[in-house]
Amino acid sequence: MDRENLIDGAGRPHRSIHGGDRRRYLLRELPAGGWEADVLAADREEDRAEEDPGVSCRVCAHRITGDTDRIAVNGSHTHTFFNPAGLLFELGCFRRAPGCLVSGEASDQFTWFAGYLWRPAFCAYCAAHLGWRFEKEGHAFFSLILANLHNG
Ligand SMILES: [Zn+2]
Repeated sequence: MDRENLIDGAGRPHRSIHGGDRRRYLLRELPAGGWEADVLAADREEDRAEEDPGVSCRVCAHRITGDTDRIAVNGSHTHTFFNPAGLLFELGCFRRAPGCLVSGEASDQFTWFAGYLWRPAFCAYCAAHLGWRFEKEGHAFFSLILANLHNG
């Protein structure tokens, strides 16, 4: 591994998208297959939009989830994490996110919530990367990047 691709001379994360270190892409991978591959039907609900304007995609304004779906995980709704490449994410946790599509194989690499696997979650309308779905046997939730949402 060429560490020059990961950290620059000042110790900051390397910003080039051309860096060769695959770890940069962990927890923010683009979908490998089509959207249809792994849509989680149980997460797709189109209700309650009227009484709960909710949380929407910052790129396209597609409704992603609702204020009533905010949950606390490990005692807090919001969490701040660095990914392995040193990029900072401020995340909010939601019990579901009907406006997201989830794609790819679940991974346990660098997971931020002990015991949970994760998969990247994307806006179902414009495919912007919005966060991750964390899942373990019998429980799952979405942790979404607040900077990528309206009213996040
Ligand atoms: Zn969108």
